[in-house]
Amino acid sequence: MTIPSQLFVDGAAREGVSNHRTTLINPATEESFGSVAAADPMDVSQAVESAHGAWVSGWRDLSPGKRGEILYAVARVLRENQEWLAQLETLHIGKPIADARDEAGLGARVFQFYAGAIAQFGGQTLPVGRGGFDFTLRQPMGVVACIVPWNFPLPIACWKAAPALAAGNCVVLKPASLSPLTALALGELAHRAGLPSGVLQVLPGSGAAVGEALATHPLIRKVSFTGSTEVGRRIMELAARDVKRVSLELGGKSPNIVFADADWQRAADTSPMSVFANTGQDCCARSRMFVERAIYEPFVERFVAATSKLVVGDPTRPETQLGPLVSAAQRATVEGYLADARANSTRFAFGGKRSQSKGFYLEPTVLVDVDPGQRCWREEIFGPVVCIAPFDDEKRMLQEVNASPYGLSGSIWTNDLRRALRVVRAVDSGVLSINSHSSVHVEAPFGGFKQSGLGRDLGMAAMEGYTELKNVYVAE
Ligand code: NDP
Repeated sequence: MTIPSQLFVDGAAREGVSNHRTTLINPATEESFGSVAAADPMDVSQAVESAHGAWVSGWRDLSPGKRGEILYAVARVLRENQEWLAQLETLHIGKPIADARDEAGLGARVFQFYAGAIAQFGGQTLPVGRGGFDFTLRQPMGVVACIVPWNFPLPIACWKAAPALAAGNCVVLKPASLSPLTALALGELAHRAGLPSGVLQVLPGSGAAVGEALATHPLIRKVSFTGSTEVGRRIMELAARDVKRVSLELGGKSPNIVFADADWQRAADTSPMSVFANTGQDCCARSRMFVERAIYEPFVERFVAATSKLVVGDPTRPETQLGPLVSAAQRATVEGYLADARANSTRFAFGGKRSQSKGFYLEPTVLVDVDPGQRCWREEIFGPVVCIAPFDDEKRMLQEVNASPYGLSGSIWTNDLRRALRVVRAVDSGVLSINSHSSVHVEAPFGGFKQSGLGRDLGMAAMEGYTELKNVYVAE
């Protein structure tokens, strides 16, 4: 398997100016399998200036039809290389291969959606008070920086880059240091599909060096970020200096609310994967479960039984559902939360230990009767840990749901339509699903309330977010 190992700038792979490299570790074996060039601020300047050149000299003015054709071709080439992309993802972040294949397919679908969206995207005509004629234009911004995390490296890179490119911008993509490979592959494949040189630059390197240089570069007009709330805040501060546009998709502590009138057996059977999928490293993980007291005991019993059947292990095997955590540091963070829960005498109904002697594995862990004051209930753990507690009263439960500083996603299980709609209205969250655990749809806006973020990825909302809105009045 070819493993990308250099920056992708101006349509070609090359070393960074400083010749720095980052070692790659397979989290399933703890073994190193190579290294990747790391950019520094000088590489950022060169890549951004040349992306700006590509924007001014061609991409900005390309007809929408031609832009659409190129993005369709990118979708096709991603699909043709789905297996390579999936293998890379499994190797460098330990993602189970079945999920990695789905996510490579999702990346292709994202490009296909935005290729088609270009023809549907435009301004409005408005009836204005002064008579005359008023219309709006949606214009590209210029060069956009997309800074992405390691938990869903390829899909998130695609769902930031594709709408930005579709709207007529050039993109500099910075993958996380733990997961640069599929972003580099995306740069190479998109170029092979016909994306002109410089339109999509890929710069692996550290957040402190590359991320901050992007967030402060005067030719970057927008920073689109997914990652921790702490770094999101930092990016907002840096971007404020020259009023760059920002969109932020940050952390979450999503609720999973199960009423006694629901098909709670189905909820219990399916909810483990709503929190343990991707080994819990998911900003939408349903990590706080509110279960109505009348069904609490049988629900927990059934949830634990379903959890015990999950297949944890070698991510290259097609039947594996949970691979390792991404790094030793991430596992240490999660184990810190488990130690804290033990110190507070929290009841472990399942898991809590390392499950393999090699690799950064942890068992899926079910904490029950959890007090809302505890750290594990309040903070984003980003690992395979769920907290479950009973509730008696809908109003008080909703107060507790909304007490979180986050508001990204969540599920509501009930067969009472009026209750479902009442609860949907009451929960402070950018994304919700009723009787399901879905959060992401290519066609629909995705993002958070409160400290879960600002702006929206996906759907037509993302494309709007990569444009400036211009209003024009024409006198009659
Ligand atoms: P970070 O927020 O640190 O990283 C996300 C991206 O931002 C990476 O590309 C990172 O680069 C980059 N970055 C880091 N620091 C800066 C900076 N100062 N300026 C610009 N870019 C920067 O997430 P972590 O990887 O450290 O994960 C920590 C926690 O964040 C997790 O435990 C989880 O709680 C949360 N998280 C949430 C995600 C989500 O989907 N909402 C995704 C990932 C993490 P580099 O990798 O080089 O540091």
